[in-house]
Amino acid sequence: MMAIPSFDLKRNYARVEGEIKEALDRVLESQHFILGPEVAAFEKEAAAYLDVPHAVGVASGSDSLLLALMTAGVGPGDEVITTPFSFFATASCITRLGAKPVFADVEPDSYNISMERVREVITPATKALIPVHLFGQLCRVEQIKETIDENGIALVEDCAQAFGAHRTVKGRIVRAGGCGGYGCFSFFPTKNLAAYGDAGMTTCFGDREAEELSRLRVHGASTTYKHDEVGLNSRLDAMQAAILRVRLRHIETWTEERREAARRYGLLFAEYGVLEFITPPAETPGNRHTYHQYVVRARRRDDLQKFLAGREITTRVYYPLPLHMQPCFESAGYKKGDMPVSESLCGDVLALPMFPELQPEEQECVVAAIAEFCGSAS
Ligand SMILES: *Cc1c(COP(=O)(O)O)cnc(C)c1O
Repeated sequence: MMAIPSFDLKRNYARVEGEIKEALDRVLESQHFILGPEVAAFEKEAAAYLDVPHAVGVASGSDSLLLALMTAGVGPGDEVITTPFSFFATASCITRLGAKPVFADVEPDSYNISMERVREVITPATKALIPVHLFGQLCRVEQIKETIDENGIALVEDCAQAFGAHRTVKGRIVRAGGCGGYGCFSFFPTKNLAAYGDAGMTTCFGDREAEELSRLRVHGASTTYKHDEVGLNSRLDAMQAAILRVRLRHIETWTEERREAARRYGLLFAEYGVLEFITPPAETPGNRHTYHQYVVRARRRDDLQKFLAGREITTRVYYPLPLHMQPCFESAGYKKGDMPVSESLCGDVLALPMFPELQPEEQECVVAAIAEFCGSAS
């Protein structure tokens, strides 16, 4: 029996070890550790890859969201609409600025925010919308664009899980972060494009916004020791930028490997006859899903997870509790039952092992174990 992890950074490192060490040596020789030429080069290369005019390297994905909202001028009394089915940082950036999170439930098939629900909760106080391209698949960006333009609200895309994901709209490719607002990326070590520590980036379209972001990440300083406003200490460091530059060169290959693994799961589910038990993730038409996570819906999810753990197969639950039910957001006034789709997802989603180096034999092992569980359960 082989142990199958949910992700395996060591296997990935083995593929780039030489390049990484070379890049780190370059930084060490330079003794330039914070921002500087390595960060500027990464920003330029990332912006080119994403096809956006500006990219500003910051300390984390959480900060990239906070800085985007600050640049958009979000503050006390404002409302910011987002999804309840996401990682905590998607909503904490809102309350950190004294604004109110307003939740809009998700679509059951894509797990992404429903624009129908968003339109129902827009008010004159709505200042921004934070859609999350969850698990590596873009939201309905054409509807998002229409809605924010109509209502004059800022768009802050949470792209933490969607580097390299795109969607074809009227024959044109729209990338995560490419919808005309801010794109917020995380390079946390388990994300698709990953650093070896905390790192993040905010992209934007306007020169004014780029300048503001660049100021806010260095304490709001316009020139050294002159502060017109209070920002954060949220700089990308040169070692992480050098690592990211290496890994950016491989991201297309790794994304294709993830997509191939996803396709293989689909075939194996059919072959092993588990589709009555397992609902695979839906790639909605026009999307290039990057499978940051491969998340299925499963009947008797908790029992299945335990069964798989017994076979040394690690799976994870993203997310067990929706954001509107987090104790720290209680003052927003939501209760159980308000977001039925998200709440039901929290009860039955399961992330199966997914990483570029995942082997076909390992996937077969996972699906065979699921089939065994289904057999014993039915
Ligand atoms: C990872 C993540 C973040 C936060 O990124 P950090 O780099 O960990 O701060 C924000 N939103 C989503 C959806 C994420 O998955």
